[in-house]
Amino acid sequence: MRKRRLLPTIAKNIDKTLSGLYYNKQAPAWTFVFLLCLYALTLFFLMTITKSQSTISIFGTPVHVNTFAGVFSSLANICVILLVVFCRKRGFITALLILICQFPILGVQLFKLHRTATIPGAFTNLFTIMACGIIYVNKTMVEKYQKNSHYQAITDSLTGLPNRFACTELMESFIKSGVNFVLVSIDLNNFKNINDIMGHEIGNKVLSEIAYRWRVLADARKTKTVDFVARLGGDEFALVIMGYNSPADVADTIKSYKKKLEETITIDNCDYFMTACFGCAEFPDDAQDTTSLFSCADAALHEIKRLNSSNCILRFSNNLLKTEQNLEIERKLRTALDSDSILFFLQPQYDASHKLLGFEALARIKDTDDSFMRPDEFIPVAEKTGLIDRVDIDVFRKAACFLGEILKKTDTNITISTNISVRHLMKNNFIDEIKDVLSTSGVPADRFEIEITESIMIDSAEKALQRINDVKKLGIKVAIDDFGTGFSSLSYLNKFPADSLKIDKSFIDVMNSNDSTKQYVAAIISIGHTLNLKVISEGVEILEQLETLKNIGCDCIQGFLWGRPMPPEEAAKLI
Ligand code: C2E
Ligand code: CA
Ligand code: CA
Repeated sequence: MRKRRLLPTIAKNIDKTLSGLYYNKQAPAWTFVFLLCLYALTLFFLMTITKSQSTISIFGTPVHVNTFAGVFSSLANICVILLVVFCRKRGFITALLILICQFPILGVQLFKLHRTATIPGAFTNLFTIMACGIIYVNKTMVEKYQKNSHYQAITDSLTGLPNRFACTELMESFIKSGVNFVLVSIDLNNFKNINDIMGHEIGNKVLSEIAYRWRVLADARKTKTVDFVARLGGDEFALVIMGYNSPADVADTIKSYKKKLEETITIDNCDYFMTACFGCAEFPDDAQDTTSLFSCADAALHEIKRLNSSNCILRFSNNLLKTEQNLEIERKLRTALDSDSILFFLQPQYDASHKLLGFEALARIKDTDDSFMRPDEFIPVAEKTGLIDRVDIDVFRKAACFLGEILKKTDTNITISTNISVRHLMKNNFIDEIKDVLSTSGVPADRFEIEITESIMIDSAEKALQRINDVKKLGIKVAIDDFGTGFSSLSYLNKFPADSLKIDKSFIDVMNSNDSTKQYVAAIISIGHTLNLKVISEGVEILEQLETLKNIGCDCIQGFLWGRPMPPEEAAKLI
C-alpha cells in the first residue's frame, strides 16, 4: 500500500528534477504585479503633479512642482520596459497595451483641448514601443539559443535520452533527499561488430531503437519500480531504479530491460540480436556519491564482462573494487616498466653518532597527476602479477648507476641497500641479473646490500639459504628486513648468513609507550649482536625513540627524524 503511494512521488521527483534542468529562468510571478503597481503609482504622482500649481524651494530657488512631471513620466516608462525585460510575453503584451492605450488620451488632449505640450509625450510613447519591441525580440532570440544549448547539454543528441550529466544530476537530487536507488551500468555486447561490419549509420539506428524501447518501457512504468534511462556514450547506457521493496524487484526490472533489448531489432530488412551486461550498485549501501556509484557499477560491469558467463547481471561487492583498482595499478606499473620510468628515492641510514652510512633505495612511480604512487599500493600488485622482479632489478640497476657516478666524483664509502622480493630471489636467473648490474655499474659488490624480509626463513628455508649464500659469494651484503613481524625461529636466524637486521617500524612506534615492547626491541638488539649482526631500527620519527635506541645499543638509525626518502639529486648533495 505504502509503495503504491511512494511510486508516483518518486516519479514526480524525477520530472521535477529534469524540468529543473531545462532552461527555465523566469522572474517570479510577483515581479509582474509589483511592476504594474509601481507603474500605477508613478502614473498617479504624474497626474497629481501635472495639476499642481504650487512651488517648492530648492537651494533657495522657487521651482514649480509640475516641472517634475518629466521625472515621473520617465519612471513610468522604465516600469513598462522592465515589464518586457522580466515578464517575457505577458510583460511585453501588457506593456504594449499600456502604451497604445495612452494614444487616444494624448489624441484627445492634442486635437480637442489643443494642448501642444502633449506632442513630446506622444513621441516618447512611440519610441518606448519601439524599444520594447527591440528588447522583446532580442530577448526571445537569446532565450531560444540558451534553451537550445541547454537542451543539448543534458540530452544525448543521437537517441534523445538524457545524458550522463542529467543522470548524475538526478542521482544527486536523490542522494540529497536520501532516497535509496540502484544505478545499473549497461554495456552492449559486441556492438563494435555491428559498427565495423554494417557501418556507423546502422549502428546509430540500432542504438536509437534500443533507446526508444527502453524509454517507452520506463515511461509506461510497466515495471514494479520507477526507472530512468540515460545514454552515457557509445554503447553504454545507465538505468536508475527507484521505489523498490526488495532486491528481487530490482532484478525483475533489470530483466524486463534485458528482455526488451533481446527482442529482434529489424533495420532495413536485416535482423539484429542484441545482448548486454548489467553491473549494479546501490545508494547508500555500496557508495554515497555519484562518482563512486558509477565506479562501483562499472566495476561490477567489467567483472561480468571479464567472466564472460551466461549470467549477465552482477551486483557490486567490495572485493570487486579491489580487483578494479589493482587492474588500474597493474596497468600503470606495466606502463612505467615499459617506458623505463620507474624511479627510486633514497632514504639515508646513519650510525648512532649521526654519521651517514648509506641509503635504502625505494621504488617510486609517478602517477598521472605528478604525485607518487605509494609502494604499499604497487609492490603487492607487482608481487601478485610477477612484475616484482622487473621492479627490483630496475631499482637496483638505477641505484647502482647512481652510486657508480658518485664514486667517479668522490671517494665516499657509503653503501646502498635495495629491497629484493623473495619471489625474485628464488628465480633461476637472479644471480646472473645481479652480476650483470655489478659489471655495468662498475661498483664493487661490497657497496651493496640486499634487504629480504624474514618471511624467507619460513617459506623456503633450504633453497633460500643456498641462494643467499650465492649472493654473499658475490660480495654483496644481506639484511633481514621487517624483523620481528614474522614467526622465524632463532635456529633459522642462527643459520641465516645475514650481515644486518632491520627492526620493523611497528615496534619502534610503540616502544616508548609499552615497556614490554621496549624490552623486546632490546632483546632483538642483543640477539643480533650475539649473532654478529649489525642492528638497524626503521621508522625512527621522534627524538625520544632515538634516545631509547641509543641507550639499548642499536647500531644504526633510519627514519624521518634524520632523513626522509629523497630524490637521488638530493641524496648526492647529502653525500
Ligand atoms: P621497507 O623496506 O620497510 O621500507 C621502509 C618504508 O618505511 C619506506 O616506505 C619508507 O619511506 C618508510 N619509512 C622510513 N622511515 C620512516 C619513518 O620515520 N616514518 C614513516 N611513517 N615511514 C618511514 P616506502 O618507500 O613507502 O616503501 C614501502 C615498502 O615497499 C618498503 O618497505 C618495501 O617493502 C617496499 N618496496 C619499496 N621499494 C621496493 C623495491 O624496489 N622492491 C621491493 N621488492 N620492494 C620495495
Ligand atoms: Ca626495506
Ligand atoms: Ca622494512
